[in-house]
Amino acid sequence: MGEGFVERKKCPVCEEVKSESIFEEPYGSQLLIQYLESFYGIRGGVDLSKVREGIYELVKCSFCELIYQRYIPNDAMMNTLYERWLDPAMIYEKFEKNHAKEYYLGLADEVAGIIGFFDAKPADLEFFDFGMGWSNWCKMVQAFGVNVCGAELSQARIDHAKNHGLEVIGLSELSEKRFDFINTEQVFEHISNPRETLALLVKGLKNNGLIKLSVPNGFDIERRLKVNDWTAPKGSINSLNPVAPLEHINCFKTKNLDILADKVGLKRVKVQVNRALKPKEKIDMKEKIKGVLRPIYRLIVPNSHPFDTTYLFYKKK
Ligand SMILES: [Zn+2]
Repeated sequence: MGEGFVERKKCPVCEEVKSESIFEEPYGSQLLIQYLESFYGIRGGVDLSKVREGIYELVKCSFCELIYQRYIPNDAMMNTLYERWLDPAMIYEKFEKNHAKEYYLGLADEVAGIIGFFDAKPADLEFFDFGMGWSNWCKMVQAFGVNVCGAELSQARIDHAKNHGLEVIGLSELSEKRFDFINTEQVFEHISNPRETLALLVKGLKNNGLIKLSVPNGFDIERRLKVNDWTAPKGSINSLNPVAPLEHINCFKTKNLDILADKVGLKRVKVQVNRALKPKEKIDMKEKIKGVLRPIYRLIVPNSHPFDTTYLFYKKK
Protein backbone atom coordinates (compact mmCIF):
# COMPACT_ATOMS: atom_id res chain seq x y z
CA MET A 1 0.00 0.00 0.00
CA GLY A 2 3.01 2.33 0.06
CA GLU A 3 5.15 3.13 3.09
CA GLY A 4 3.79 6.62 3.65
CA PHE A 5 0.29 5.28 4.20
CA VAL A 6 -1.60 3.70 7.08
CA GLU A 7 -4.68 1.54 6.72
CA ARG A 8 -7.87 2.40 8.54
CA LYS A 9 -9.34 -0.93 9.56
CA LYS A 10 -12.59 0.40 10.99
CA CYS A 11 -15.03 3.19 10.34
CA PRO A 12 -13.75 6.44 11.91
CA VAL A 13 -17.31 7.41 12.87
CA CYS A 14 -19.01 4.25 14.20
CA GLU A 15 -16.01 1.84 14.46
CA GLU A 16 -17.69 -0.84 12.34
CA VAL A 17 -15.01 -3.07 10.79
CA LYS A 18 -17.10 -4.25 7.85
CA SER A 19 -17.07 -2.12 4.74
CA GLU A 20 -17.62 -2.34 1.01
CA SER A 21 -15.02 -1.10 -1.46
CA ILE A 22 -16.67 1.36 -3.85
CA PHE A 23 -13.69 2.82 -5.75
CA GLU A 24 -10.08 1.83 -6.18
CA GLU A 25 -7.27 3.35 -8.22
CA PRO A 26 -3.49 3.11 -7.71
CA TYR A 27 -1.82 6.48 -7.05
CA GLY A 28 0.64 5.46 -9.77
CA SER A 29 -2.11 5.36 -12.43
CA GLN A 30 -2.20 7.98 -15.17
CA LEU A 31 -5.58 9.21 -13.90
CA LEU A 32 -4.33 10.01 -10.41
CA ILE A 33 -0.90 11.23 -11.47
CA GLN A 34 -2.60 13.76 -13.72
CA TYR A 35 -4.94 14.78 -10.90
CA LEU A 36 -2.12 15.13 -8.34
CA GLU A 37 0.12 17.09 -10.69
CA SER A 38 -2.59 19.52 -11.70
CA PHE A 39 -3.96 19.99 -8.16
CA TYR A 40 -0.66 20.36 -6.30
CA GLY A 41 1.32 21.92 -9.16
CA ILE A 42 -0.18 25.36 -8.45
CA ARG A 43 -0.06 24.95 -4.68
CA GLY A 44 3.49 23.74 -4.04
CA GLY A 45 4.02 20.45 -5.86
CA VAL A 46 3.63 16.78 -5.03
CA ASP A 47 6.56 14.36 -4.72
CA LEU A 48 5.13 11.46 -6.72
CA SER A 49 7.79 9.03 -5.52
CA LYS A 50 6.20 9.25 -2.05
CA VAL A 51 2.72 8.21 -3.19
CA ARG A 52 3.27 6.09 -6.32
CA GLU A 53 3.12 2.77 -4.44
CA GLY A 54 -0.05 3.73 -2.60
CA ILE A 55 -3.65 2.86 -3.40
CA TYR A 56 -6.51 5.31 -3.39
CA GLU A 57 -9.48 3.32 -2.14
CA LEU A 58 -12.88 4.50 -1.00
CA VAL A 59 -14.93 2.22 1.20
CA LYS A 60 -18.46 2.52 2.50
CA CYS A 61 -19.10 1.55 6.12
CA SER A 62 -21.53 -1.36 6.32
CA PHE A 63 -23.22 0.18 9.35
CA CYS A 64 -23.35 3.98 9.12
CA GLU A 65 -22.57 4.18 5.37
CA LEU A 66 -19.79 6.74 5.81
CA ILE A 67 -17.58 6.79 2.73
CA TYR A 68 -13.93 7.09 3.71
CA GLN A 69 -10.44 6.56 2.31
CA ARG A 70 -9.06 3.24 3.53
CA TYR A 71 -5.39 4.23 3.16
CA ILE A 72 -4.45 7.61 4.51
CA PRO A 73 -1.11 9.41 4.76
CA ASN A 74 0.79 8.66 7.98
CA ASP A 75 1.79 11.55 10.27
CA ALA A 76 5.05 12.20 8.42
CA MET A 77 3.35 12.29 5.02
CA MET A 78 0.50 14.44 6.38
CA ASN A 79 3.09 16.93 7.57
CA THR A 80 4.87 16.94 4.21
CA LEU A 81 1.53 17.26 2.42
CA TYR A 82 0.23 20.22 4.42
CA GLU A 83 3.53 22.08 4.78
CA ARG A 84 5.27 21.42 1.45
CA TRP A 85 2.98 20.01 -1.25
CA LEU A 86 0.56 22.70 -0.13
CA ASP A 87 3.14 25.44 0.31
CA PRO A 88 1.72 28.01 2.79
CA ALA A 89 3.49 30.98 1.18
CA MET A 90 2.26 30.03 -2.30
CA ILE A 91 -1.29 29.41 -1.07
CA TYR A 92 -1.33 32.72 0.75
CA GLU A 93 -0.22 34.62 -2.36
CA LYS A 94 -2.39 32.78 -4.89
CA PHE A 95 -5.56 32.09 -2.94
CA GLU A 96 -5.76 33.96 0.36
CA LYS A 97 -4.97 37.33 -1.17
CA ASN A 98 -7.57 36.87 -3.89
CA HIS A 99 -10.80 36.50 -1.93
CA ALA A 100 -13.58 38.64 -3.40
CA LYS A 101 -15.51 41.07 -1.20
CA GLU A 102 -18.45 38.62 -1.28
CA TYR A 103 -16.32 36.16 0.68
CA TYR A 104 -15.86 38.66 3.52
CA LEU A 105 -19.52 39.69 3.34
CA GLY A 106 -20.44 36.03 3.69
CA LEU A 107 -18.23 35.72 6.77
CA ALA A 108 -19.72 38.87 8.31
CA ASP A 109 -23.19 37.57 7.59
CA GLU A 110 -22.51 34.22 9.16
CA VAL A 111 -20.83 35.65 12.26
CA ALA A 112 -23.69 38.12 12.79
CA GLY A 113 -26.18 35.27 12.46
CA ILE A 114 -24.35 33.12 15.00
CA ILE A 115 -24.09 35.97 17.51
CA GLY A 116 -27.83 36.50 17.03
CA PHE A 117 -28.45 32.97 18.27
CA PHE A 118 -27.18 33.89 21.73
CA ASP A 119 -29.06 36.10 24.14
CA ALA A 120 -25.92 37.96 25.23
CA LYS A 121 -23.76 40.95 24.42
CA PRO A 122 -20.88 40.17 22.04
CA ALA A 123 -18.36 41.10 24.76
CA ASP A 124 -19.79 38.36 27.00
CA LEU A 125 -19.37 35.61 24.36
CA GLU A 126 -16.44 33.24 23.84
CA PHE A 127 -15.93 31.72 20.40
CA PHE A 128 -13.35 29.19 19.23
CA ASP A 129 -12.27 28.32 15.70
CA PHE A 130 -10.89 24.81 15.37
CA GLY A 131 -8.63 24.79 12.30
CA MET A 132 -8.47 28.58 12.05
CA GLY A 133 -6.53 28.63 8.76
CA TRP A 134 -5.54 32.18 7.86
CA SER A 135 -7.69 33.54 10.71
CA ASN A 136 -10.34 35.14 8.52
CA TRP A 137 -13.21 33.85 10.64
CA CYS A 138 -11.46 34.82 13.91
CA LYS A 139 -10.69 38.31 12.61
CA MET A 140 -14.35 38.79 11.69
CA VAL A 141 -15.55 37.53 15.08
CA GLN A 142 -13.12 39.90 16.78
CA ALA A 143 -14.47 42.79 14.72
CA PHE A 144 -17.94 42.05 16.13
CA GLY A 145 -16.58 42.46 19.67
CA VAL A 146 -16.69 38.77 20.61
CA ASN A 147 -13.79 37.11 22.48
CA VAL A 148 -12.19 34.60 20.16
CA CYS A 149 -9.28 32.22 19.91
CA GLY A 150 -8.38 29.36 17.62
CA ALA A 151 -6.32 26.23 17.08
CA GLU A 152 -4.24 25.36 14.05
CA LEU A 153 -1.60 22.81 13.05
CA SER A 154 0.24 24.82 10.42
CA GLN A 155 3.07 26.93 11.86
CA ALA A 156 2.81 29.52 9.09
CA ARG A 157 -0.88 30.03 9.90
CA ILE A 158 -0.23 30.10 13.66
CA ASP A 159 2.40 32.82 13.11
CA HIS A 160 -0.06 34.72 10.94
CA ALA A 161 -2.72 34.57 13.68
CA LYS A 162 -0.30 35.76 16.36
CA ASN A 163 0.94 38.58 14.16
CA HIS A 164 -2.67 39.73 13.97
CA GLY A 165 -3.07 39.72 17.73
CA LEU A 166 -5.09 36.50 17.93
CA GLU A 167 -4.74 33.90 20.64
CA VAL A 168 -3.87 30.39 19.45
CA ILE A 169 -4.41 27.55 21.91
CA GLY A 170 -3.42 23.88 21.95
CA LEU A 171 -6.02 21.13 22.11
CA SER A 172 -4.74 20.12 25.55
CA GLU A 173 -6.01 23.48 26.85
CA LEU A 174 -9.55 22.82 25.63
CA SER A 175 -10.79 21.05 28.74
CA GLU A 176 -10.05 24.20 30.78
CA LYS A 177 -12.12 26.35 28.43
CA ARG A 178 -15.89 26.80 28.09
CA PHE A 179 -16.92 28.21 24.76
CA ASP A 180 -20.32 29.46 23.66
CA PHE A 181 -19.54 28.59 20.06
CA ILE A 182 -17.06 26.27 18.35
CA ASN A 183 -16.51 26.69 14.63
CA THR A 184 -15.20 23.93 12.38
CA GLU A 185 -15.15 24.98 8.73
CA GLN A 186 -13.82 22.44 6.21
CA VAL A 187 -11.87 20.56 8.89
CA PHE A 188 -13.50 17.24 9.75
CA GLU A 189 -13.10 15.79 6.26
CA HIS A 190 -9.30 15.99 6.80
CA ILE A 191 -9.13 14.35 10.22
CA SER A 192 -8.09 10.71 10.68
CA ASN A 193 -9.94 10.34 14.00
CA PRO A 194 -13.05 12.56 13.76
CA ARG A 195 -14.82 10.90 16.68
CA GLU A 196 -12.02 11.43 19.21
CA THR A 197 -11.49 14.96 17.93
CA LEU A 198 -15.15 15.92 18.22
CA ALA A 199 -15.33 14.39 21.72
CA LEU A 200 -12.39 16.61 22.68
CA LEU A 201 -14.10 19.70 21.31
CA VAL A 202 -17.28 18.91 23.24
CA LYS A 203 -15.25 19.11 26.46
CA GLY A 204 -14.62 22.78 25.70
CA LEU A 205 -18.27 23.58 24.99
CA LYS A 206 -20.62 25.28 27.49
CA ASN A 207 -23.74 23.31 28.34
CA ASN A 208 -25.86 25.60 26.18
CA GLY A 209 -23.08 26.13 23.63
CA LEU A 210 -23.25 25.50 19.92
CA ILE A 211 -20.87 23.72 17.56
CA LYS A 212 -20.82 24.00 13.78
CA LEU A 213 -19.73 21.16 11.52
CA SER A 214 -19.22 22.30 7.95
CA VAL A 215 -17.71 19.88 5.44
CA PRO A 216 -17.88 19.21 1.68
CA ASN A 217 -21.26 17.80 0.78
CA GLY A 218 -21.00 14.06 0.10
CA PHE A 219 -24.69 13.64 -0.74
CA ASP A 220 -24.28 12.41 -4.33
CA ILE A 221 -20.67 11.28 -4.35
CA GLU A 222 -21.49 7.81 -5.63
CA ARG A 223 -23.05 9.30 -8.77
CA ARG A 224 -20.00 11.51 -9.25
CA LEU A 225 -17.67 8.54 -8.87
CA LYS A 226 -19.54 6.79 -11.67
CA VAL A 227 -18.93 9.84 -13.90
CA ASN A 228 -15.29 9.58 -12.77
CA ASP A 229 -14.23 12.99 -14.08
CA TRP A 230 -11.08 13.92 -12.16
CA THR A 231 -10.79 17.18 -14.07
CA ALA A 232 -14.23 18.50 -12.98
CA PRO A 233 -13.61 21.84 -11.22
CA LYS A 234 -14.38 22.21 -7.52
CA GLY A 235 -17.98 23.32 -7.12
CA SER A 236 -19.17 21.83 -10.41
CA ILE A 237 -21.77 19.05 -10.35
CA ASN A 238 -19.29 16.27 -11.12
CA SER A 239 -16.50 17.54 -8.88
CA LEU A 240 -14.78 14.82 -6.87
CA ASN A 241 -13.51 17.36 -4.34
CA PRO A 242 -15.54 15.75 -1.49
CA VAL A 243 -13.28 12.69 -1.83
CA ALA A 244 -10.06 14.51 -2.80
CA PRO A 245 -7.23 11.94 -2.60
CA LEU A 246 -4.94 12.25 0.47
CA GLU A 247 -6.91 15.16 1.93
CA HIS A 248 -10.67 14.62 2.14
CA ILE A 249 -10.35 11.27 3.84
CA ASN A 250 -13.89 11.28 5.28
CA CYS A 251 -16.83 12.04 2.99
CA PHE A 252 -19.85 13.02 5.10
CA LYS A 253 -23.52 13.08 4.30
CA THR A 254 -25.85 14.72 6.82
CA LYS A 255 -26.70 11.31 8.26
CA ASN A 256 -23.02 10.51 8.93
CA LEU A 257 -22.49 13.80 10.79
CA ASP A 258 -25.63 13.16 12.87
CA ILE A 259 -24.28 9.73 13.87
CA LEU A 260 -20.84 11.16 14.63
CA ALA A 261 -22.42 13.88 16.78
CA ASP A 262 -24.70 11.41 18.56
CA LYS A 263 -21.67 9.28 19.52
CA VAL A 264 -20.18 12.19 21.45
CA GLY A 265 -23.38 13.42 23.10
CA LEU A 266 -24.53 16.04 20.62
CA LYS A 267 -27.86 16.57 18.88
CA ARG A 268 -28.60 18.66 15.81
CA VAL A 269 -30.33 22.03 16.15
CA LYS A 270 -31.76 24.35 13.51
CA VAL A 271 -29.99 27.69 13.44
CA GLN A 272 -30.81 30.41 10.96
CA VAL A 273 -27.64 32.12 9.79
CA ASN A 274 -26.37 33.66 6.55
CA ARG A 275 -29.22 36.08 6.41
CA ALA A 276 -28.46 38.89 8.83
CA LEU A 277 -27.33 41.21 6.04
CA LYS A 278 -30.10 40.36 3.59
CA PRO A 279 -33.55 41.98 3.38
CA LYS A 280 -36.19 39.56 4.64
CA GLU A 281 -38.47 39.44 1.58
CA LYS A 282 -35.57 38.55 -0.66
CA ILE A 283 -34.59 35.61 1.54
CA ASP A 284 -38.08 34.17 1.60
CA MET A 285 -38.30 34.24 -2.17
CA LYS A 286 -34.85 32.70 -2.50
CA GLU A 287 -35.74 29.96 -0.03
CA LYS A 288 -38.87 29.16 -2.04
CA ILE A 289 -36.89 28.93 -5.25
CA LYS A 290 -34.30 26.69 -3.62
CA GLY A 291 -36.99 24.43 -2.20
CA VAL A 292 -38.79 23.93 -5.49
CA LEU A 293 -35.94 24.09 -7.93
CA ARG A 294 -33.11 22.84 -5.78
CA PRO A 295 -31.49 20.52 -8.34
CA ILE A 296 -31.84 23.09 -11.11
CA TYR A 297 -30.58 25.90 -8.88
CA ARG A 298 -27.53 23.80 -8.24
CA LEU A 299 -26.82 23.57 -11.97
CA ILE A 300 -27.25 27.31 -12.43
CA VAL A 301 -25.20 28.31 -9.38
CA PRO A 302 -22.67 25.51 -9.04
CA ASN A 303 -20.62 27.23 -6.33
CA SER A 304 -23.59 28.16 -4.25
CA HIS A 305 -23.60 27.63 -0.55
CA PRO A 306 -25.18 25.51 1.01
CA PHE A 307 -25.37 22.87 -1.72
CA ASP A 308 -21.65 22.23 -1.80
CA THR A 309 -21.41 22.14 1.93
CA THR A 310 -22.98 20.02 4.60
CA TYR A 311 -23.47 22.83 7.09
CA LEU A 312 -24.97 21.82 10.42
CA PHE A 313 -25.20 22.97 14.05
CA TYR A 314 -25.21 20.81 17.17
CA LYS A 315 -25.60 21.28 20.91
CA LYS A 316 -25.25 18.99 23.91
CA LYS A 317 -28.09 16.50 24.43
ZN1 LIG B 1 -19.59 3.59 10.22
